[in-house]
Amino acid sequence: MALENDLIRSEVAGLPDYNAGLALDRFREVYGLDARAKLDSNESPLGPSPAAIVAMRDAAAGIGRYPDATDSALRQTIARLAGTDPDCVILGNGSEDLIGAIFRAVLRPGDRVVTLCPSFGLHEFGAQSCGAVVQKVPFHPDWTFPLREMIAAAGADTRIVIFSSPSNPAGPAIGPGEFRQLLDGIDPQALLVFDEAYREYLSDDLAFDACTMMADAGRDWISLRTFSKAYGLAGARVGYGIGSDAALVWALRKTRNPFAVNAFAAAGALAALQDGDHLRRNVEATRAERGRVADALRGMGVEVAPSQANFLFFRTPGKASDLTEALRRQGVLIKPWQEAPFSGWARVTIGTLGENAIFLSALSAAMAETGAPAGGA
Ligand SMILES: *Cc1c(COP(=O)(O)O)cnc(C)c1O
Repeated sequence: MALENDLIRSEVAGLPDYNAGLALDRFREVYGLDARAKLDSNESPLGPSPAAIVAMRDAAAGIGRYPDATDSALRQTIARLAGTDPDCVILGNGSEDLIGAIFRAVLRPGDRVVTLCPSFGLHEFGAQSCGAVVQKVPFHPDWTFPLREMIAAAGADTRIVIFSSPSNPAGPAIGPGEFRQLLDGIDPQALLVFDEAYREYLSDDLAFDACTMMADAGRDWISLRTFSKAYGLAGARVGYGIGSDAALVWALRKTRNPFAVNAFAAAGALAALQDGDHLRRNVEATRAERGRVADALRGMGVEVAPSQANFLFFRTPGKASDLTEALRRQGVLIKPWQEAPFSGWARVTIGTLGENAIFLSALSAAMAETGAPAGGA
């Protein structure tokens, strides 16, 4: 939809829509059937801890009042668990809210932002809407992080370097040695925004403490985290950032909405943090299923990127949107990637055992339907 006049700023008018997954009600309305496997938004198949649901239900009694604008109870609990000062923690209406708050606080028109390709769309669009120029550095073909290229791109005059690890949509995670190289190489004046939305799925030496490493590097940084993925609270909209110092974090409070985290979300997140068993069950089941689904895809001749998260990124025969449409007609939702040159790739969330089986059999059928080479390519 285009306006006849120039009311909307050109940086905004030129932005694409966010490539969001389809909500279940909306899917039913559009496709006239119930979803059998919803695997397009990297949600947890287990949902939140039952304690979080009870806490949100209890929060209803006090809903006539504004929530705590300082998010103090949740902020203090997060700070204690992360071993940091509560003044260095900020909550948001999802961590997406904080991505926008960071860009609005920091970016001037014409500033340079460096990210990866493929990338999380909001790392790019929010910066563009502030008038920044986004440079996207492609992953290496073997899905290793392009460290040398990122360092070359993030020279003097770079305002922000932002990327996720594990990377959405691709899946790989950066190792501690690589992260150190990046910290040493990118411009010391640039703000490093390290999006750790999927950090709970990391294991062994990939689960390193990025905040301590960034603090030791003596630069400005923000780590972004969320309750939407491994904690299963995507609908509640709550995420948080941990920043290098209180003054940086305080500035973000001014570009965020004052009551960004509603009372239900705050209560649910606080309870979710206290149910470590639920989190572990979810993460362990997801990791096991991820290996099984990746093997099954490779067995079908499909190219799959290595993943440390709760999803897999794979090459589709032909255009991804043709394949994902064929899957939707079978009640299976996955996300076709729309970013050049990855419009021949799709991302599937790891669901329950049953959902993953439904996905794999629907994929076989869809590949036959779209004329893909069986077991080849
Ligand atoms: C899902 C996701 C987020 C978090 O989104 P919320 O707003 O917290 O729901 C942030 N970054 C990346 C890379 C993600 O994939």
